[in-house]
Amino acid sequence: MNQPIIYEGKSKIVCRGADDESYIIRYKDTATAFNGEKKEELAGKGKLNAAISNILFEHLAQNGIQTHLIRVLDDTSILVKQSEIILVEVIVRNIAAGGFSKKYGVEEGSPLHNTVTEFSYKSDQLGDPLINDSQITAIGLATQAELDYMKAQALMINDLLAAFFRKRRIILVDFKLEFGRCQGEIILCDEISPDSCRLWDSETNEKLDKDRFRRDLGDVLGGYADVLRRITGQ
Ligand code: 5GP
Repeated sequence: MNQPIIYEGKSKIVCRGADDESYIIRYKDTATAFNGEKKEELAGKGKLNAAISNILFEHLAQNGIQTHLIRVLDDTSILVKQSEIILVEVIVRNIAAGGFSKKYGVEEGSPLHNTVTEFSYKSDQLGDPLINDSQITAIGLATQAELDYMKAQALMINDLLAAFFRKRRIILVDFKLEFGRCQGEIILCDEISPDSCRLWDSETNEKLDKDRFRRDLGDVLGGYADVLRRITGQ
């Protein structure tokens, strides 16, 4: 894959596609946390995340969600629709954990009375701060109609993925989504993988996601491989 690089992020590289309507995204083996302060190369992570995300995106597309994925190119590369990434991350939480537990003093693992949706401003420089609707529209990151659409899509995606994982003995605790503008529509972009979700074993609550890396729990890729094994039914 020798296409010119357009952008290199912490865990992925975006290259020019064959035409003006596509990009190639290549998953890297780099693991980062705490806005890049903790960083390590984990050989094989890119391949695992690509495989997991591709399965989840295909499942969502089969269930009516518009996504950027055109086709899988190889173990770590995908062809996607060009889109203008909206600089608002959508976070969905089914169970208290991570930033939510810390910020609001709620014990990790506590059930929530309702599904939580949050927005954060996608900015490495600012450390992805939480941001509300009126702040987003005030600085022109997205319109209220776009936010309403992204939130509704995120909740539909939550229902689809939570059911998908439940069948594979995995609890979908929380996750982060990114959307892009593409030919007048808003489509799901980026990835859905153990880097961007919290996934717990439904019997033991064992963590199978990036918290293994963030919290030095060990065998990071063992968790990711377990997720892939379960969702491919192997
Ligand atoms: P928290 O706010 O608890 O740190 O994160 C909530 C969920 O969103 C977690 O599943 C976490 O992995 C995901 N998430 C939040 N921000 C980011 C981000 O900048 N990058 C990635 N890959 N995931 C994120």
